Amino acid sequence: MDTQMLIGSKFDKGTEIEEPILNPKTGATILNLPEASPAQIEAAVSAAEKAFVNWSRTTPAQRSGYLLTIADRIEAEANEFAALEALNCGKPINAVLNDEIPAIVDCYRFFAGAVRSMPGQVAGEYLPGHTSMVRRDPIGIVASIAPWNYPLMMMAWKLAPAIGGGNTVVFKPSEQTPLTALKLARILSEILPEGVVNVVLGRGDSVGNTLINHPKVNMISITGDVATGKKVLQAAAKSVKRTHLELGGKAPVVVFDDADLGAVVNGLRAFGYYNAGQDCTAACRIYAGKKIYDKLVADLSSAASTIKYNLPDDTENEIGPLISRRQRDRVSSFVERASELKHIEITTGGKPGEGSGFYYQPTVVAGALQEDEIVRREVFGPVVSVTRFSEVDEAVKWANDSDYGLASSVWTRDVSRAMTTAARLQYGCTWINTHFMLTNEMPHGGLKQSGYGKDMSLYALEDYTAVRHVMVAHG
Ligand code: NAD
Repeated sequence: MDTQMLIGSKFDKGTEIEEPILNPKTGATILNLPEASPAQIEAAVSAAEKAFVNWSRTTPAQRSGYLLTIADRIEAEANEFAALEALNCGKPINAVLNDEIPAIVDCYRFFAGAVRSMPGQVAGEYLPGHTSMVRRDPIGIVASIAPWNYPLMMMAWKLAPAIGGGNTVVFKPSEQTPLTALKLARILSEILPEGVVNVVLGRGDSVGNTLINHPKVNMISITGDVATGKKVLQAAAKSVKRTHLELGGKAPVVVFDDADLGAVVNGLRAFGYYNAGQDCTAACRIYAGKKIYDKLVADLSSAASTIKYNLPDDTENEIGPLISRRQRDRVSSFVERASELKHIEITTGGKPGEGSGFYYQPTVVAGALQEDEIVRREVFGPVVSVTRFSEVDEAVKWANDSDYGLASSVWTRDVSRAMTTAARLQYGCTWINTHFMLTNEMPHGGLKQSGYGKDMSLYALEDYTAVRHVMVAHG
């Protein structure tokens, strides 16, 4: 197992406080990893600064070649990456191997193509005797900070457009899930020129905080909690750094009475509980029309109760545990507080799973009202609330009545209703008759406090490059 950080071309152990890395399926410690010292962070930033001089002058075709090689190496070691991610995050092995790894490999391949064909305004004589052209150039050193829910995928979403765009990176994985980042660091050191990507370990308020406040860092890219995003903005304000924020979500799912109930229930069973609900787009906040509500609650509760987890043969598991005891207890306390309300019924689940792992039962919270905490706050666990609505306007109003604005969905057989409702939802993404589906060609990112950074797609490449105007006077 790779345990050392990548600083320039050197591998080094951190010298500071040790963080226990846990197996969420058992609660056991896999190993302890010390975090980076201020001097090691400094060395990583210096390595990125040095590497930027040449890397920023490579051609798109050269960078594309590097990205394709990274993709090939991840694909070639898919089984090892999947096993490590499953171990560190508690994910079912098949979910990592069949869902995540192909999407990760495709992300590097997508950006390998995208960097070679960036669109923009045509060059021309917009003033007589002067030719103007628009360039898109790298921003500089990017401090990239990732969360624990999809460690290797978040790394791909951040690294591919950043280095594809000609930037250099100091990457910090979540202190809870650094193992696949350390494995990829070893591979990156064999592929990329020294210092283009550096990987440092540590907690947010120490290593993360040093990175986001570093005067030589030109851009901060972070996926995490809204509170963390606000700290990043404060740090960025000091030297006007660019920021790329992907923060939390609380996705509304508007189910009209004419929706295909079977499809809705299958969709919610999959997309409400995937990754044990630790997903910022999880279909967790259902608004059901008054006629479909009762049947939806009954069918969803039966379906959720059949979700397989904590089975000894991991290939049978559909979801894993939560990432930590703390996260499991947090989810548990949300459900406990909800269940104390008279109008709420927990129709399935509602308890931690058995054993020493951090499991929580797939849960349906029925009868929830718009003002309830369970409807308003991000639970980040296998918990779906259902709220009854009467009119379209009420559903849209409630769906939009949130601090978050990342993802949403609308379920109906009426195309006109689907389109008009989708247009009214204030979310970075609205799915119609599905949820959760992502593709590397399309942007992923939010509105409101979910942040404004776009991952995947050409829009990410725009976020990681600066628009510049070059004008030639030639008479
Ligand atoms: P978190 O904010 O606690 O941590 C995210 C990362 O930020 C970690 O690497 C952490 O060490 C670092 N960090 C924390 N405090 C910091 C600070 N003061 N300075 C610098 N770095 C700091 O979030 P988490 O608990 O790891 O992840 C869960 C959250 O991420 C949820 O809110 C979820 O919705 C969000 N998320 C959003 C998306 C998206 O695309 N919008 C995707 C995945 C997760």
